[in-house]
Amino acid sequence: MLTSGWKTVSMIDIHGKVTFTLWLCGCNLKCPFCHNWHIAEGKDCFPLDRNALLEELESNAFLIDYLHVTGGEPLVQWQELSSLLAEVKLLDVPVSLNTNLTLIDPLKKLLNAGLVEHIATDLKAPPVELYGLPETTSQGLWKLFLDGLKTVSDYTIPLELRIPVARGFNQWPWIEEGLKMLKTDFYIILNPLVGKPLTNPRDETWCSEHCWPRREEMGRLKKKLEELGVEVYVNNFSGDGL
Ligand code: SF4
Repeated sequence: MLTSGWKTVSMIDIHGKVTFTLWLCGCNLKCPFCHNWHIAEGKDCFPLDRNALLEELESNAFLIDYLHVTGGEPLVQWQELSSLLAEVKLLDVPVSLNTNLTLIDPLKKLLNAGLVEHIATDLKAPPVELYGLPETTSQGLWKLFLDGLKTVSDYTIPLELRIPVARGFNQWPWIEEGLKMLKTDFYIILNPLVGKPLTNPRDETWCSEHCWPRREEMGRLKKKLEELGVEVYVNNFSGDGL
């Protein structure tokens, strides 16, 4: 299994939780704002030393709420991941999976085996813009994503739904469509897309147009979500107290 490494204690990967975070390589999307694109493209990756990981996880288990597996898209390597998580289960450490929710069969295999206790995902809207792939492919992937939200609900897995907020798009119709699929415990994190110098996005030209959403765009989405009674948090990099 290819990894770019792990962090034994992280306070920033899941809202209000402490995680041991593992990054896995590869991804089936090409999001233009992606700041982990080198991991997604398999750069700076190396074979996972499973024993070393499990030893460190066991030593830190008393400090953490979850092993958080992220990437890249972890389900690209689902077979190896499944066998790793079977060993993690023996350590009694709950697992949180950060996935783009478009690889449904692998997701169901892990959920059927009881290997995942929490999911985090991004609702990327409009998908044709944010997936970075041709239009028909993106539309098909969006349908898979909706199916992924339904699957998470069917298995009653708690969900951290992250919305990357982009500048200059009306993202609401897709957000509404996604919310209709959810019948499980969830809350929303609004993440304004940011570029340099805070991150190193895959496509700087795209980011110069669509990163750094306006304060009003963030505020409008937050208000609409709150009007629906959704629990919503804002990751605010500008410090303006939204
Ligand atoms: S943002 Fe996530 S889903 Fe998109 S390319 Fe990067 S790793 Fe893949």
